[in-house]
Amino acid sequence: MNKESFDFDIIIAGAGVGGISAALAAARLQMRVLLIEQAGEVGGTGVFSSVSLICNFRDSRGKPITSGIHRELFPAAYTHYNEKLVPTYDEQELKAAYEGLLASEPTLTLWTDCKVFQVDMKNGRIVRLHIQGSRTTAVTAKIYLDATADGNLSALAGLEYKLGREGDGKLQSATATFKVSGIDCSRLKEPDIRQWSAIHSLRRELLPYYLDMKAAGLTGNTRQSITCFPYPDGKALLFNSTSVLDVDPTRPETVIRGKEEGIRQAQELFEAIKQHPAFHHAQLEYIAPKLGIREGRRIVGEYELTAEDCLQSRRFDDMVAACAYSLDIHSPDGGASRLESIPEPGYYHIPYRSLIPKGCTNLLLSSRCISGTHEAHSSYRIMASVSAIGEASGTAAALYVFQGLQNVRKVQTSHIRFLLQLRGQFIEGEVERIPMPASSAWAEEIN
Ligand SMILES: Cc1cc2nc3c(=O)[nH]c(=O)nc-3n(C[C@H](O)[C@H](O)[C@H](O)COP(=O)(O)OP(=O)(O)OC[C@H]3O[C@@H](n4cnc5c(N)ncnc54)[C@H](O)[C@@H]3O)c2cc1C
Repeated sequence: MNKESFDFDIIIAGAGVGGISAALAAARLQMRVLLIEQAGEVGGTGVFSSVSLICNFRDSRGKPITSGIHRELFPAAYTHYNEKLVPTYDEQELKAAYEGLLASEPTLTLWTDCKVFQVDMKNGRIVRLHIQGSRTTAVTAKIYLDATADGNLSALAGLEYKLGREGDGKLQSATATFKVSGIDCSRLKEPDIRQWSAIHSLRRELLPYYLDMKAAGLTGNTRQSITCFPYPDGKALLFNSTSVLDVDPTRPETVIRGKEEGIRQAQELFEAIKQHPAFHHAQLEYIAPKLGIREGRRIVGEYELTAEDCLQSRRFDDMVAACAYSLDIHSPDGGASRLESIPEPGYYHIPYRSLIPKGCTNLLLSSRCISGTHEAHSSYRIMASVSAIGEASGTAAALYVFQGLQNVRKVQTSHIRFLLQLRGQFIEGEVERIPMPASSAWAEEIN
């Protein structure tokens, strides 16, 4: 391949929900995008850690506050809203949706099995990325997006980051989720497990078996309760109910140990719940292939989003995304989670400045690694917000290229909001039409 084919407008590292949303947003604005993923397939945590629940993306009155690409990923959650039903998805269907959407963009190139392992910097700018795997080469672009969840690209660029909670640096607990099928729902007090009331009832029915196992010292799981969600067809359950402490994604040995511990806890819990009559013939269909790690590096940016911002439903003049999910800290010490919901109107803004890392002029943060505290991160890390963050960063990157800018700080947020709104995303604040000659590549699309 000649050198030309390795130069793009925008390069995005990481193909989880943040990177995919960014890639789609930018490609739909006619950008030549390269999306690089170190795993063999796209999907990241939302597919390979099987997280299941479509976490809250509505304000207190039920109005969606993330209605852009997230809506394309989970259309049923928008069109068939019923607060009695648990909104969940099947990870294989999500993966197929990702693949279909990515394949439909002619200006988007996807390289899987490729890991960014080195970043060359000059005068506060990224000049090239080095990748290895199915291709070992260098790639260049005008602007780069870090959608690696753990801020790996930013860390390789030598940028400042924070890790874990204030004081001791400990991270939220990790979880090995697992799928159970072959349940005899007729033996449950409430058989239609697609309903919230049935799921709560089921969790109560299963709890004594788990607590007996704990009392007998047969598990290292520190959780006090059982958390599980139905698959959309109501025939299987996804258990998000193990708790592995001291897993730090920047230290691979803790991830390997954590995965072993997670598998052990999943098997122990499955043995406990099998004692319930509805589960006598149930099967442990699988344990998620990737340990679910909730927290990694938070890159230091132009604004650090705080718990107070979330809990005061804060508005920002440079809003580019919104989040309606509670603060949800799975304790780094084990035991119960801290859950605090977002007060009226039930959501807060995510400012563009939190997507801009300090110390670099051509990089944006495009996944859960944006600039925020340990507490704030526990809220905006959910897929709805990360998708909105990705869509905003992909749109901002396209503007940066289109307008020939040299610094991501120069992108006008009223222009980002204009484009996001045009695409159906939920936006608040001033929007401004982008000046351009009628002959411009975007003119037809935008006017
Ligand atoms: C156990 C658990 C349960 C959860 N439950 C829910 C839930 O019910 N609902 C919800 O909405 N959210 C839930 N979440 C949170 C949510 O799933 C994640 O925070 C979100 O999916 C993260 O998306 P992302 O795009 O930031 O990162 P990821 O999906 O993790 O994607 C990052 C990608 O970057 C790739 N990558 C990393 N480094 C490199 C590199 N150097 N080069 C190339 N590629 C690289 C990775 O392989 C990965 O594919 C849960 C999380 C966990 C762990």
